[in-house]
Amino acid sequence: NFPLWPSTNPRISTRVLSLLPLNPKSNQSPKPHHHSLSHPFKSLNSLSPYVLPQFRPILLGWLCSLVSVYSLSRIVSKVGNLFAILGDFNRVSGIRGEGLVLGLLVLARLVGCYLQQAFLWDAALRAVCDVRVRVFEKVLERDMGFFECGGGVSAGDIAYRITAEASDVADTVYALLNTIVPSTLQLSAMVAQMLAISPVLSLISAMVIPCMALVVAYLGDELRKISKNAHLTVAALSAYLNEILPAIFFVKANNAELCENTRFQRLARADLSEHLKKKKMKAFIPQIIQIMYFGALFLFCAGSLAISRGSFDGHAMISFVTSLVFLIEPIQGIGKAYNEWKQGEPAIERLFDLTRFKPKAIDKPDAVDLNHVTGEVQFCDILFKYGENMPLVLNGLTLQIKAGETVALVGPSGGGKTTLAKLLIRLYDPLSGHILVDNHNIQSIRLGSLRRHVGLVSQDITLFSGTVSENIGYRDLMEEIDMERVEDAARTANADEFIRNLPKGYETNIGPRGSILSGGQKQRLAIARALYQKSSILILDEATSALDSRSELLVRQAVERLMVNHTVLVIAHRLETVLMAQRVFLLENGKLQELSHSSLLNNHYESLVSTGLVI
Ligand code: ADP
Ligand code: MG
Repeated sequence: NFPLWPSTNPRISTRVLSLLPLNPKSNQSPKPHHHSLSHPFKSLNSLSPYVLPQFRPILLGWLCSLVSVYSLSRIVSKVGNLFAILGDFNRVSGIRGEGLVLGLLVLARLVGCYLQQAFLWDAALRAVCDVRVRVFEKVLERDMGFFECGGGVSAGDIAYRITAEASDVADTVYALLNTIVPSTLQLSAMVAQMLAISPVLSLISAMVIPCMALVVAYLGDELRKISKNAHLTVAALSAYLNEILPAIFFVKANNAELCENTRFQRLARADLSEHLKKKKMKAFIPQIIQIMYFGALFLFCAGSLAISRGSFDGHAMISFVTSLVFLIEPIQGIGKAYNEWKQGEPAIERLFDLTRFKPKAIDKPDAVDLNHVTGEVQFCDILFKYGENMPLVLNGLTLQIKAGETVALVGPSGGGKTTLAKLLIRLYDPLSGHILVDNHNIQSIRLGSLRRHVGLVSQDITLFSGTVSENIGYRDLMEEIDMERVEDAARTANADEFIRNLPKGYETNIGPRGSILSGGQKQRLAIARALYQKSSILILDEATSALDSRSELLVRQAVERLMVNHTVLVIAHRLETVLMAQRVFLLENGKLQELSHSSLLNNHYESLVSTGLVI
């Protein structure tokens, strides 16, 4: 048992504690899934649309298994023959021919087995690749509430499902494909062989199988439960790492390595115990099947008895036991497939759970594309809250911004400024009231069109690892990035100079989350990116973190330049930015109140800051 926090360590501030997921339960066990088990084929149904289109490699694989099973059954009967020849001095000269045939059969068997596996893996991996792509597509379709409002699944958990769990699903699909035809074929061929040699001995061998099947079925169900827990513990590990590694700077700054290490150890050990249980169970099930081998020994004794009495031919006995040995192989295969299935079921469910939601029809059928926008924006009587039981964030807010005007928004932290920006690009829709752009209700504008005309520089700047030009031209990443526009945007955003000083200029890779850049450079890059798309409306959610005065001047110059031909809604924290706007509003208690410039200059702004009304 690990204490969650070394609570005696005063250096870990309470703020750090409040920022990290404290409750291990909330980390480990996502919402219980009310799915599946009532319907054993649900997972199969989910998979079939991805597996069936791979019919070509599947059929080829199965065809190869036909070759390998046919050669095997010929080998098995030849082995008895070979012994007969070896025992009979007069026929020894025929051994060369027999040996050659046997050699060719073994070769056919090996090649058949190899191709069968290669084709079936091809089908399984392709199917799972399609599943991955589809699941990710559906994840991107989820609305913001799924990612932001705590109801959804953490990013780390989603990443784990799409990576590791999808690999488990590939193993399951392969095991199933390999069982349905190849194992069944080999099983039937060997049983036929045995029946032909001795029906009585075959019957005796057959008796063990149903007992074994019952035990294996019971254990398989246990394995499914254990596997599910093991999936949850790894998902928790992955979610934790995904949250903490990007915040490593913060962890070090707070001297919290020890406490993070403790938290990681606890999660790792929880995973250890679940995985141990799973591996033990997986090791145990094949042992039940191994009992068959001892059955073969018993049969050998029974057979020897029959031979000594002269009622049974010794060479037939060799073929019979060889068949039995090769019968065990497909039975083990079926057992393994069952194992994989029971183990894979939770992974399949968790993966497809991400796709099971009713997508909100965002674009109405009659939604319009706006070619040109002058940039007039109106918020009319907006009511908004993030969830059923959440407080109202915007409470009857009304605001009109004329085309080309710059409006500054100030207010206390948590007052709803960023929320207003989110509503304008429809990351959320208001509960009531409407938002108009150029007199079109934004709900009747095609989403793609709306988001092309409204550019956003968000408070938390998002940059990706990639070149500067890829980051600025992000909108055109899939097509061709227009370098002229990139450089234009960079010049307006006051970023051109520092970009040219980077080792490879616009082709410099800026590292994960733009790690090689300073705060001010990141901000100017983000502004350049918003400018690249040539939208007529810009929302600038000013970062609260302070910049040095030179960087701030450069950013301010950039903002000043872009005010000239854009409608700008700037969420401001600095008096200099506020004063650049034509009108200034205070957002407080979900409503707006206009502030005049003269009152702002007459120390009113300072008093707003000191009372926490403006940050
Ligand atoms: P501001 O940008 O003015 O600081 P925000 O618009 O970010 O404020 O937040 C307004 C209020 O909405 C805050 O009380 C905040 O806690 C809440 N809030 C913001 N985002 C979410 C969310 N995704 N889920 C629930 N509440 C949220
Ligand atoms: Mg904000």
